Amino acid sequence: MPLLILFFLLYLVESITNLSPRTEAIVSGLADSFSWRIRIFLALCAATGWIANATSGARSAAAQNRLHEADSRNPAAGGSSHEWGRALDVNFTKGAVTLLKSTPKAVWVASGIPFLASLCGLRWGGNFSNYYDPIHFDAD
Ligand SMILES: [Zn+2]
Repeated sequence: MPLLILFFLLYLVESITNLSPRTEAIVSGLADSFSWRIRIFLALCAATGWIANATSGARSAAAQNRLHEADSRNPAAGGSSHEWGRALDVNFTKGAVTLLKSTPKAVWVASGIPFLASLCGLRWGGNFSNYYDPIHFDAD
């Protein structure tokens, strides 16, 4: 049993450092204090077969305003944790299944990913009352 735990920990460390190039670039741009929590979260997801495809991380106030202008449900500049590098937008793939922003909440919940996020102290955008945003994970 101790050997199994050791192999799992080695797998976890490997997963933490083995993100796709695009996801690695986005995670590397997050705030240091947040990126390690995200790396552990993504490694736990990988351990259950869900591969992360990050689409957005830290962004400038101008970029945030552009998103707000495109869809007013997105916060304006000054109102998003993306602006201080403490939020990640990420799709997940397992085999033929990909979890996207348009994927129903029940499917996301059944994946176990929101539970893993809560274990890591992350807030899940799938629970936002005003704007269903299941690809969004952040921390205060
Ligand atoms: Zn987001």
